[in-house]
Amino acid sequence: MSEHNASALIPVLPRVGEFLARRHLLWIDGEHVESKFDRRRNVFDPSTGKVISSVTDAGPEDVDRAVAAANRAFPGWARCRPAERERLLLKLADMLEADGEALAQLETLNQGKSIHAARAIEVRGSVEYIRYMAGWATKIEGTSSDLSIPIPEGARNLGVTLREPVGVVGAIVPWNFPLAIAVWKLASALACGCTLVLKPSEDTPLTALYLAELTRAAGFPPGVVNVVTGTGIDVGAVLAGHAGIDKLTFTGSTAVGQELGRIALTNMTRFTLELGGKNPMIVMNDVDPERILPGLMGGCFFNQGQVCAAASRLYIHREIFDKTLEQLAATIQALSLGPGLDPAAGLQPLTSERHRARVADAVAACRAEGAKVVTGGNVPERDGYYYAPTLLIDQAPTSRAMQQEIFGPVITAVPVDSLDEAIEMANCSRYGLAASIWTNDLNSALRAARLVEAGTVWINSHIPLDPSLPFGGTKQSGYGREHGRGAIEQYTEVKSLIIPVFDR
Ligand code: NAD
Repeated sequence: MSEHNASALIPVLPRVGEFLARRHLLWIDGEHVESKFDRRRNVFDPSTGKVISSVTDAGPEDVDRAVAAANRAFPGWARCRPAERERLLLKLADMLEADGEALAQLETLNQGKSIHAARAIEVRGSVEYIRYMAGWATKIEGTSSDLSIPIPEGARNLGVTLREPVGVVGAIVPWNFPLAIAVWKLASALACGCTLVLKPSEDTPLTALYLAELTRAAGFPPGVVNVVTGTGIDVGAVLAGHAGIDKLTFTGSTAVGQELGRIALTNMTRFTLELGGKNPMIVMNDVDPERILPGLMGGCFFNQGQVCAAASRLYIHREIFDKTLEQLAATIQALSLGPGLDPAAGLQPLTSERHRARVADAVAACRAEGAKVVTGGNVPERDGYYYAPTLLIDQAPTSRAMQQEIFGPVITAVPVDSLDEAIEMANCSRYGLAASIWTNDLNSALRAARLVEAGTVWINSHIPLDPSLPFGGTKQSGYGREHGRGAIEQYTEVKSLIIPVFDR
């Protein structure tokens, strides 16, 4: 694996340097506020392991303040005309686009990802998502129906449903796509007339704070968007269990999601959970491995495999298994590791030292259980939180390599003799987030797409999402849907009206 050339790094914009140097605070009621908790946290550059900024850790009292601000802002925002909500969201999208390079660099420096991914997904994807959701603000509709109840006598009853904003939203997001996932929640909630308290991951808090400032500059009223940085325990759990929120939207691990679902039920808080995945990729013998290789690599290693929907279990038809594996291994070995700001680097560091240790431990446990390492499986000797891209072979469907979400650049390949065997193995998992099927046989593809247990199935592709298409998990990968109409339904509550109409 080749080293990056430091002189090839793209220069950091002065605005990014200025933002990193600030003493960051919380964002409550449209302004920067000190935390009552009095604890600061360093923010690291994963490509060097060096401190690049610091933020404040909120505590329970700060969560109270943020939730109170969101509650004060809610009645006014909910009554704001839909066209005005649309206008403000479009303005926000324009401002995010204008600051796109700064936001992309900030995300790359903090999260570690490639600048190309930061520009394409965190920035362009977010701009498109906000514009898409802005359009929904004026198109949220109920229904009308002719009812059959014969009461009161002589009346014909008209039934009408209204879709009303669910209220104050508590949004908790992870570190893999810090800006994009925050935007999915924020834009959907705001389009529906909800207000929001957002908690970014403690590892990647910077772009959420930048986004909050943009909402003020775009003209959103104070309190509509609040950001509380801090830990899962002191902020996330307090926010999830807060009696002042009406809806919890969480993206993160299944273990935490299950706990938060239980907490939300105590208050009957509505909730959406976007959780983990161990996603299968089925490759049949009628494809040309060389031709589909870029798609397989992207589906597995995009964002260093730190993608909930990334493929990590490959079921490859035995007839093309050796050839596909040989080409995969060669392509993986040719990936050059380097920082996200090096546009030529093929794979970037993981987000945190803690997460890299988790990935390394998981691979060690897979090996101890019998998984064979084809390539990778080690921590490279260099600064930063790098992990060598890893290809394992393991045949036991219930092994750790096939069952545990590793959430890193680690994939396991297994030979299969038929599509049915692949589907059976694909479904042998507690997760059901995403899957892909690679074949030129349309009927096989559509049959497998129906039988595979997953919220999203790609055919001859793996990873891209669109704002208009619902996204979410089955089984232990989650509860509810984001994107598209699915998101609108999650941030609104249906109210039924019954109106007797008399003939005279
Ligand atoms: P995580 O569950 O550890 O943390 C996610 C967020 O929850 C963070 O903001 C964290 O501070 C907070 N949190 C942690 N413990 C908490 C608690 N007890 N109470 C309340 N909040 C708490 O997950 P992570 O490591 O940040 O992210 C990786 C996980 O997220 C993976 O499992 C991945 O599959 C999943 N993920 C899912 C999707 C999806 O859409 N399905 C998208 C991205 C990531």
